[in-house]
Amino acid sequence: MNEATNIAYNVGLPTGLQLINDPGLNKGTAFTEAERIAYGLRGLLPPRVNTMEEQVRRVLGNYGRKTSDIERYIFLAALKDRNRTLFYRVLLENLEEMMPILYTPTVGKACQEYVHIYRRPSGIFISATNKGHFRDNLRNWPNRNVRVIVVTDGERILGLGDLGVAGMGIPIGKLVLYTACAGIHPSWCLPVTIDVGTNNTALQKDPLYFGLQHERIRGDAYDELLEEFIVAVGDNFPRCLIQFEDFGNTNAFRLLNRYKDRICTFNDDIQGTAAVALAGLFSAMRVTRGKLKDQKILFLGAGEAGAGIGNLIVSAMADEGISASEARQRLWFIDSKGLVCSRRENLAEHKLPYAHDHEYLPDLLSAVKALKPGVIIGVSGQQNAFTSEIIQEMGKINKSPIIFALSNPTDNAECTAEAAYKGTEGRAIFASGSPFGPVKMNGRTFTPGQGNNAYIFPGIGLGVAGSKAARVTDEMFLTAARVLAQQVTDAELSTGSLYPRLNRIREISAEIASAVAQLAHERGLAKSDLPKDMKSHLRSLMWEPIYQEYV
Ligand code: NAD
Repeated sequence: MNEATNIAYNVGLPTGLQLINDPGLNKGTAFTEAERIAYGLRGLLPPRVNTMEEQVRRVLGNYGRKTSDIERYIFLAALKDRNRTLFYRVLLENLEEMMPILYTPTVGKACQEYVHIYRRPSGIFISATNKGHFRDNLRNWPNRNVRVIVVTDGERILGLGDLGVAGMGIPIGKLVLYTACAGIHPSWCLPVTIDVGTNNTALQKDPLYFGLQHERIRGDAYDELLEEFIVAVGDNFPRCLIQFEDFGNTNAFRLLNRYKDRICTFNDDIQGTAAVALAGLFSAMRVTRGKLKDQKILFLGAGEAGAGIGNLIVSAMADEGISASEARQRLWFIDSKGLVCSRRENLAEHKLPYAHDHEYLPDLLSAVKALKPGVIIGVSGQQNAFTSEIIQEMGKINKSPIIFALSNPTDNAECTAEAAYKGTEGRAIFASGSPFGPVKMNGRTFTPGQGNNAYIFPGIGLGVAGSKAARVTDEMFLTAARVLAQQVTDAELSTGSLYPRLNRIREISAEIASAVAQLAHERGLAKSDLPKDMKSHLRSLMWEPIYQEYV
């Protein structure tokens, strides 16, 4: 073959270093001999052609030499920037190990360090200083077929608070999970961070911080920026799903209410969390053989996660035959000021339905003693708020106390898995937001499950994109929760895990996506034709990290 004349005969692909430098096309040492000739790569790469399996082995060898999680995160991020297909292959083959590196808890640390570890663009920054130009800013993104945007304004990153534009690690991480868990094509994904300033005084003073170093813009000015962004997305990517992520809770509820009936959108902290927690409760009911509608549930934390979970539980209880108002009577909330009750003034709107007529109780312990709940759910971001006294009290009241410590990252969990099991002589039914390792007790090994939103949102995204649904509804999250709980095997339940193994996540996402897409068709929201076999249709849309042949 004449090298010179055959270069780039596959019209449209770049050649030489340009091809190697394109992470979506690069195959590194796996470019075949014929491709090396056709695209002018000979001499630029080491001579012997590697298989993808050999490349995976090399990556894992290097990964294994990293000595901290943040170094592992940086290493994987660099691999993604270099060779996207290889990155996803490595991730899919090692999902259980690498998910905590690419998402919680390590992503939290990565956000805290973001301005120091920043390398290259991985998404779009929408800055208040560019007001009036958001449409053009989005046009600068090289892919024109974006179908999923995850957007944050950085105000409430995990349980870490306001990290401003350094919150960009979250949309990046969530979209990695869309691809890994549900096969959403990487070029369909766009991470976005909106910069409206930060109230984090350390970042305001950090000379390396690269966002606006003034107080957050609020009120009408903020709403105008968000509105311009939403319109700009519609102009650039008309069929795009927008996932709101880690907004402060006043904006999160307002924005969800404003846009959920106007565009295709949801808020993962409110609705995704709700579905994953509800799935955990459905699984717990399989263990106790109880009914959800009979549970008394006490929340520590009445923010986005708490209210989202509460509202979805009400729908689920109503499905079991009680009225919504009866269901609400079974849910109780404690926030930073104590029991949410009718005697309190100036309660935020989302708390009002749960402000029962009851004497005020100052804290969780007094509430557990007075209300005697069967379930406590921690979504407060308060480390060790489930003290040993509280856990023991739950053990006294209940045969099988249900204890969910959902706050992230790990350090913020309301209790550890070990504390929950040890404080209840191994009777607790436990789930957490961040992963905990197995706990050995009385000759039994508990393998607690992680209520990870990644069980839900990728499947929802695939179902919505695959059916071209015009809206995302609460009913879709209820459906997703049911499907997820059905995926947990009896063997998993018997080890204490309320969630399925992550190594089956693509199968689980396909099940969720199928149910969600079916629902979209039933409710008249789908813009695509109804396929004969929904699951295989959605399966066929799932991207696999396999090298394409260029010759
Ligand atoms: P938020 O800021 O909206 O709400 C926090 C709530 O906790 C508020 O109601 C606040 O009053 C309450 N609170 C704070 N300090 C308290 C204290 N000392 N005692 C009692 N209540 C207190 O935040 P959010 O979005 O609801 O998230 C809360 C936590 O849930 C975070 O740590 C987040 O990481 C976690 N979370 C977990 C999952 C998951 O496990 N899948 C998903 C989403 C959020």
